[in-house]
Amino acid sequence: MLKGKTALVTGSTSGIGLATARALAGDGANIMLNGFGDAAAIEKERAGLEKEFGIKARYSPADMTKPAEIAAMIAATEKEFGSLDVLVNNAGIQHVANVEDFPIEKWDAIIAINLSSSFHTIRAAVPGMKKRGWGRIINIASAHGLVASAQKVAYVSAKHGLVGMTKVVAIETANHGITCNAICPGWVLTPLVQAQIDARAKASGKPVREEEVALLSEKQPMHKFTTPENIGALAVFLASDAAASITGSAYSIDGGWVAQ
Ligand code: NAD
Repeated sequence: MLKGKTALVTGSTSGIGLATARALAGDGANIMLNGFGDAAAIEKERAGLEKEFGIKARYSPADMTKPAEIAAMIAATEKEFGSLDVLVNNAGIQHVANVEDFPIEKWDAIIAINLSSSFHTIRAAVPGMKKRGWGRIINIASAHGLVASAQKVAYVSAKHGLVGMTKVVAIETANHGITCNAICPGWVLTPLVQAQIDARAKASGKPVREEEVALLSEKQPMHKFTTPENIGALAVFLASDAAASITGSAYSIDGGWVAQ
């Protein structure tokens, strides 16, 4: 369905972003990868995407805390592939602490990466999408874009902001063939969540598996993780023609987390 189109997924060297890039490539899109990590491992993923799916894949090392690098990444994508049609804002980090102990530099980094980077990518990508009369913007928010948890002041603020940004962009682009939606996952077992489980196990002295079950059951009626591939499949649907009139929505994929 996406043959001849180009998708950029921020933070696609790991977890949800990588699975989403793979899903979009599987649907025929050329891919611009982005994110940090081991250069050889990233090159292996990039070349693997080309071989497995018969598409073109490139990699941008742009740092999502740096607006100039973000603008250059969007320009490079349009130059390399001729267009940027599907923008997935996925890069994100986490830090857990009570508000009075929350390090200021962690607040600044989370707001920059989890919120402001999407403003910078969207403002640079929309003119081209408007010109071509087609675009899909998919923001990876979170259940924490809709409800809160203790000790996540920066993350919850950023994700609520991202859901708000999604609505504004949806309204502004509604008659330009562009849709803008948020995906709100519950727990997905990726390095970002594994770090939280490991920290809990270290603090409690309990086995990691026990903390994994505890983490799930505290929040989700469904006691299992959503997979990164589940998120990728939803992104492919939102990029499809079937979803052409879905815009400004926040899609929960969270084992019932926010239904409570
Ligand atoms: P992850 O840690 O596996 O991947 C994060 C990606 O972001 C990596 O590719 C990393 O290199 C990249 N990244 C981090 N800082 C960056 C920067 N400054 N510039 C460019 N790239 C940067 O995490 P994940 O769990 O796959 O999370 C992906 C997104 O999904 C995040 O926005 C996260 O908030 C969201 N999310 C995750 C879960 C979950 O349970 N894992 C739930 C809801 C939402």
